[in-house]
Amino acid sequence: MIGDLSHSPVLSLLVSLDTNVLAVSHTSHPLLPSVKPLLADLVHATEVSEVFLNGQRYVVQRELLWHQAGELLGMLLVFWQPTELLSDRRLGEMALAIASKLEIEHVLEQVVRFAMDLLDADAGALPIYDPDRDRLLPGHLVNLPVDLISPVTGERKGLMWQIINQNRSLLIADYAAQSHVLPELVRAGVRSLLATPIKHGNTPLGILALYRMRDEPFQERDRDLLQAIARQTAIALQSARMYQRAIRNADQRYALYRASVEIGATLDLAQLYQAIHRAVSKLVDHVRFAIALPVDHQTFEYVYLIAPAGQHPTRRESIAKGVAGYVLRVGVSLRLSGAQSLPEPTALPDPEIDGDLTRGSLLATPLIVADRIIGALVVASDRRDAYTTNDLSALEMLASTVAVALHNALRFAHLQSLAITDTLTELVNRRQFLHLLHQEMERTRRYQHPLSVAIIDLDHFKLVNDTHGHLVGDWVLREIAQCCRRHLRDIDTLARYGGEEFSLILPETDYEAALQVADRLRLLIATTPMAIDGRLLSLTLSIGVATFQSQLHTDPARLIADADQALYLAKRRGRNLVCGAKELSTYAES
Ligand code: GH3
Ligand code: MG
Ligand code: MG
Repeated sequence: MIGDLSHSPVLSLLVSLDTNVLAVSHTSHPLLPSVKPLLADLVHATEVSEVFLNGQRYVVQRELLWHQAGELLGMLLVFWQPTELLSDRRLGEMALAIASKLEIEHVLEQVVRFAMDLLDADAGALPIYDPDRDRLLPGHLVNLPVDLISPVTGERKGLMWQIINQNRSLLIADYAAQSHVLPELVRAGVRSLLATPIKHGNTPLGILALYRMRDEPFQERDRDLLQAIARQTAIALQSARMYQRAIRNADQRYALYRASVEIGATLDLAQLYQAIHRAVSKLVDHVRFAIALPVDHQTFEYVYLIAPAGQHPTRRESIAKGVAGYVLRVGVSLRLSGAQSLPEPTALPDPEIDGDLTRGSLLATPLIVADRIIGALVVASDRRDAYTTNDLSALEMLASTVAVALHNALRFAHLQSLAITDTLTELVNRRQFLHLLHQEMERTRRYQHPLSVAIIDLDHFKLVNDTHGHLVGDWVLREIAQCCRRHLRDIDTLARYGGEEFSLILPETDYEAALQVADRLRLLIATTPMAIDGRLLSLTLSIGVATFQSQLHTDPARLIADADQALYLAKRRGRNLVCGAKELSTYAES
């Protein structure tokens, strides 16, 4: 019943209180005769002690076995040779874990593996109970399907919750015949289950569950042994610090699992940014959060930025600025607390995003796809030393999921933008212009805000082509488009309407203001000579402006026609001019 321990402890004995040996790992072990006379002493020995047998030193680990009713049943004695105690990672690490020197994942894993070994199980689990939020977290799983995670959490149903609710162990000899079983486990071949709560006093800390896939179910007598292990585990877990971390880590892993499902499910960038933020919020506390994407070799953009004051609009920064810039350049993760820990003096933190590092702390990690840095995540706290290395590795794990999802969504957005962008000028194309104008007109009708449009045509552009060639003509078109774009507001839409004509949507802009905007563009181009073939050449624009009126402009074509007519008037009047629709003789003002 003790299982095969031949490759770990030297000898294991199950001993009753009156020092009768009830079970032994090797019935014919040569050490056995020398051990027997010592048993009475070992009842009173400490948990871990030393004995000399046949001239050799052994370490004895003693575990008292208690009955449910609190009655002492006997003890488990495990004999190790000191070297083996050091080299064997199972019971040895469990003992070390009690001194809380190991990472909690390690402890959980060791406990599950140790219990599996001792009780000859094929699979095991150690779900963690979180009393604050009354929930079960997946904890550690060995040889079990990962999709176990979701059903275990959430509802207070199923066998795991039964163990927590009743706070006692459970033995199921025929798993598939039960009513509350998980189909995933039946599919995985589970035949019998033995599980026990891990308790501190009466408070459940978690569950130690073992599974056998073969036709040899757990026996009643296996219970006590599992409970003994559970008690050792409780000692490791009851250290509040370790326990809190266990909850947090199990929580993080669960959040990671959920996040990867959610994050992978959307191609919409705005939704994806929010999903990433939700996932990060479940992993680590923070007051600031940023998703940064590189724009070119000099700049990057905070495409999503949360600060204590709320969400910031997108903004561009020099790649030399802030922790995000550093991570995008160098491609390594950072865990910072205190200004002195900055990786290089040039990576000055940006106080708005990174916070005051002399008082706070920060985590940052690159988003990498196929060796390319496609972005960075930054989280910051106002507390010093708010983040552990565990937090950083959780964020890094999330980052690998995020990177792939973001990469796909960015590519998708790029493909979409190709369909609405004019490749030469990088302005929106005519189709998209008409679509956006339609939307703006609907909005204007509803909210009664002013809306104007302008049609812009280059004067004597044929001459440029004829004199300098089409390629130069293309370059000029592009320059003029970019120059105009830079001098407009973000809410204005400048489009390539066709050939050397541009169109402009000016939301929230009345007739007079639109004439002013148009004239500003006209003057800008007329006074910005371009270097062509070593000579400075000045080009001019003619612009027609029209302002939306709901009775008159029942569809976009009518509004554009008015602007077009005004443009025609400007051409007739000599070019390098702005004309408005109200100047047209045909114009019927309402
Ligand atoms: P106007 O002042 O009356 O507008 O004179 P214009 O020469 O600009 O007008 P017109 O409509 O007669 O000629 C427009 C020219 O713009 C014709 C064409 O060669 C040129 N053009 C249109 N699209 C492109 C383009 O994509 N690239 C280049 N290089 N030229 C273009
Ligand atoms: Mg022209
Ligand atoms: Mg033209």
